[in-house]
Amino acid sequence: MGLDSGAARARMVTRIVQEGVRDPLVLAAMGLIERHRFVDTALANQAYEDTSLPIGLGQTISKPSVVARMLELLRLPLQNDGKLLGRVLEIGTGCAYQAALLSRISTEVYSIERLRGLHDKARENLRPLRIPNIHLLLGDGMLGFAKGAPYAAIVSAAGGEAVPQAWIDQLAVGGRIVAPVAGGAGPQRLLVLDKTPRGLVSSTLEAVHFVPLKSGLA
Ligand code: SAH
Repeated sequence: MGLDSGAARARMVTRIVQEGVRDPLVLAAMGLIERHRFVDTALANQAYEDTSLPIGLGQTISKPSVVARMLELLRLPLQNDGKLLGRVLEIGTGCAYQAALLSRISTEVYSIERLRGLHDKARENLRPLRIPNIHLLLGDGMLGFAKGAPYAAIVSAAGGEAVPQAWIDQLAVGGRIVAPVAGGAGPQRLLVLDKTPRGLVSSTLEAVHFVPLKSGLA
């Protein structure tokens, strides 16, 4: 991976378009951010395949098509007008790949991780990229991050039983939450929650496989 990673990314973006993602800002970000920099060198040659990959401490980075889908869902309320999202809260920094993508589609990214090992790794991964609008936080994302609120969007990379009330409280009116949520006996599903002036509107979308949302630090 290196000189020709641009071509591999372009092929990845083509596949993502075939999966139905159309948002130009999301596609531009996916074509720009070098996913191979966020995984172990031994896995770098798989970085542009549409597969989830291990990132250490039992956690995984989602496959690119799912990441792109979630980012597009976050931006849909803006109706693809090319405007950036405002402040965004990400639960589950992991290796910071999605945080780097978010930095291209929003004005400011607050990304919170509960595992110190991954929080440190995320910092290392981002250092050479010198991205000014990402704030990495070590903490329990189930509590959100009140100091950055209100958020235009909240996205979770880990799935719980329900969307924590803190996220709803910290979401701006007009804002949107995209998160995997356990489906009882059935599979985990992607949940979209819009905070409208008249109240919450939620829709449950396709089945997904995300690592569990856990409380507390480790
Ligand atoms: N967006 C990440 C994906 C990381 S996987 C990336 O691009 O790499 C999901 C992450 O959520 C894991 O690192 C896990 O430790 C973290 N996580 C789970 N529960 C959490 C919580 N309550 N607060 C913060 N992070 C949490």
